[in-house]
Amino acid sequence: MSYIHEVLNRLQGKFPHQPEFLQAVTEVFESLRPLFKQEKKYEKYKILHRIVIPERHVNFRVTWTDNKGNIQVNQGYRIEFNSAIGPYKGGLRFHPTVSEGTIKFLGFEQIFKNSLTGLAMGGGKGGSDFDPKGRSESEIMRFCQAFMNELFRHIGANTDVPAGDIGVGSREIGYLFGQYKKLTNRFDGVLTGKALGWGGSLVRTEATGYGSVYFAEEMLKSKNESLEGKICLVSGSGNVAIYTVEKLQQLGAKAITVSDSRGFIHDNDGIDVVLLKDIKEKRRESLEAYAKEKKTAKYISSQNYPQGYNPLWSIPCFAAFPSATQNEINSVDADHLLQNGCKCVNEGANMPSTLEAVHKFIDAKVCFGPAKAANAGGVATSGLEMSQNASMTSWSFEEVDKKLHAIMKHIYDISQETAKEFGESHNLVLGANIAGFRKVADAMIDQGLV
Ligand code: NDP
Repeated sequence: MSYIHEVLNRLQGKFPHQPEFLQAVTEVFESLRPLFKQEKKYEKYKILHRIVIPERHVNFRVTWTDNKGNIQVNQGYRIEFNSAIGPYKGGLRFHPTVSEGTIKFLGFEQIFKNSLTGLAMGGGKGGSDFDPKGRSESEIMRFCQAFMNELFRHIGANTDVPAGDIGVGSREIGYLFGQYKKLTNRFDGVLTGKALGWGGSLVRTEATGYGSVYFAEEMLKSKNESLEGKICLVSGSGNVAIYTVEKLQQLGAKAITVSDSRGFIHDNDGIDVVLLKDIKEKRRESLEAYAKEKKTAKYISSQNYPQGYNPLWSIPCFAAFPSATQNEINSVDADHLLQNGCKCVNEGANMPSTLEAVHKFIDAKVCFGPAKAANAGGVATSGLEMSQNASMTSWSFEEVDKKLHAIMKHIYDISQETAKEFGESHNLVLGANIAGFRKVADAMIDQGLV
């Protein structure tokens, strides 16, 4: 049995109840096969055995009271996965589906994503099964404060620097930071995604969406294609999706869909990004409101979705930007996209395509931007926020955007060059996984058994 197979088998036996984590590990390990054929040192140092086990798990209780005075209890997590190349870095997710397995999958992906950015950041992730939907401002604040009452012990500007993710935006980062400062009496760059007036970086809000489109542009350039004038599908309507739509429009492409957990909008006129921001960022309403206010738009409720596939991915398009959540494109959705002429799939969300869907995109040789490369612009700009905090400066929008653009190009270039080195030029999943892994694994060897 090969070394890769042995470690995968062992994990499958130990964590059968963590399917997302196993999926993320399987995708990375499958890509590493050609590297392990050439290079024996990773097996000698048992790197795979070591890299799948987080350096530290923090599981904690979060207790708070709701507006009616009822006691509420949630589970909190911070998983400090790997610090071989820098302090732990990765977002916090507040969503009712969050479990230890979800945070492990996200933290594992984060190790290699952060490595690809070229910045000194290790991998971590955290969150809670708290559901912010329907909660008042004061309930959100009390929950964030209760969450930080434990988290503050484990984080620090040079130790572990959390950021946002699903359900955690600038409002939540504000409440978390306020409580950190109250508990420690320190004004540190301990969280990223802060507001501009107190240590945040310009472009951080836009970074994941803009970066995702920059990555897609690089892939398309290599095929003498561009996004200009092209029809694009976007899923999600949160931070990543909104700024993906905005950048696509700036480049002359037409994004015609967005979605949320209750349904999706199909607007052949192109998504009105000003209206979308108003509904999602200010009013925090469902997308149904969009269709009521824009007459060219159709709203399709998820209650009317057929069994087994998402009709959003059946709309003919040139490029697809899944930007909501994990496993939102299954193998049937992948067939629909390919049958309808889709030439580019760029993952804005983390692991939005199932393993079967990924295989179909790679086999079809369309441009496929894997999440850990395509959506790394968010964490890269968080890294830029940390640099600005450390040097007590702030850069202009243009400066940060230029650096973000350069980082996305760098990520494309190393992923592509590595894919080529291993004889599979078109396979950026393989390229990104090997390039991200090699740097971390070599650092682990250099630093001994710790
Ligand atoms: P937001 O909370 O801002 O938005 C999430 C969006 O996805 C919402 O429209 C939400 O709908 C939808 N969504 C969430 N869960 C589901 C579900 N189970 N089914 C259908 N729709 C769902 O999160 P972000 O935009 O920040 O994150 C989106 C993705 O991008 C995630 O995978 C995240 O890990 C990834 N990512 C985010 C980065 C960032 O900088 N923010 C960086 C890198 C990756 P609803 O509002 O109805 O819940």
